[in-house]
Amino acid sequence: MSIQVKNISFIYNKGTPFESKALNNVSFEIADNEFVGIIGHTGSGKSTLIQHLNALLKPTSGKIFINNIDITEKVNLKEIRKEVGLVFQYPEHQLFEETIYKDIAFGPFNLGLSEDEVEKRVFEAMEIVGLDVSLKDKSPFEVSGGQRRRIAIAGVLSMKPKILILDEPTAGLDPRGRDEILSNIKNIHEKYNMTTILVSHSMEDIAKLVDKIIVMHEGNIELIGTPKEV
Ligand code: ATP
Ligand code: MG
Repeated sequence: MSIQVKNISFIYNKGTPFESKALNNVSFEIADNEFVGIIGHTGSGKSTLIQHLNALLKPTSGKIFINNIDITEKVNLKEIRKEVGLVFQYPEHQLFEETIYKDIAFGPFNLGLSEDEVEKRVFEAMEIVGLDVSLKDKSPFEVSGGQRRRIAIAGVLSMKPKILILDEPTAGLDPRGRDEILSNIKNIHEKYNMTTILVSHSMEDIAKLVDKIIVMHEGNIELIGTPKEV
């Protein structure tokens, strides 16, 4: 699936004394099956930007097209979120069930899949992210931060989205966990032909993985290019 972002701006708390401009005339295109990294300093607007791509946030101005459908118009949110999977920067924001199994099963269950199919998807997703199946009945809050991160990723993968967006998926992990997650993401991208967007603070993390890098600075796009160009 392709993405076109045309001139979007976004202001938090618009019309209140707490207004803050987070995106400023941002435009870019991502082709079907492309692997793109977004980098930039803290506060540069990375998380704000990607939350627009599954319509969690609506731009103050500008347009966003997913496969040529304008998602800033009235759209079926459920349909968009089925196709555009977003793994949040803070995994705790998407874990709310009492067991790991239920958390990962939540998405496919809501798609109306059969119990067998849901189970198949949950175990497949756990395997991809390197979570031992024996953990399935534990609470997502009884395991380590790195494991919580994997649960959040598995929860999105089990939906089999066409576009996968990961916001700082290696934050807080040790070097081994970081390399493991990054190589898992690369494998997922290749195996499932998903358009993939990886947000990171670290050029080192993404340069060897992605086709294209978008560099953000204070709500603007500073540069777009291949890892060599950037
Ligand atoms: P980080 O690398 O720290 O995750 P980021 O690049 O993801 O940063 P954003 O979280 O998108 O940056 O924030 C962009 C700007 O919007 C910042 O100035 C931030 O303070 C502001 N901002 C973010 N979330 C909110 C919010 N919920 N309410 C008001 N302002 C916000
Ligand atoms: Mg962020």
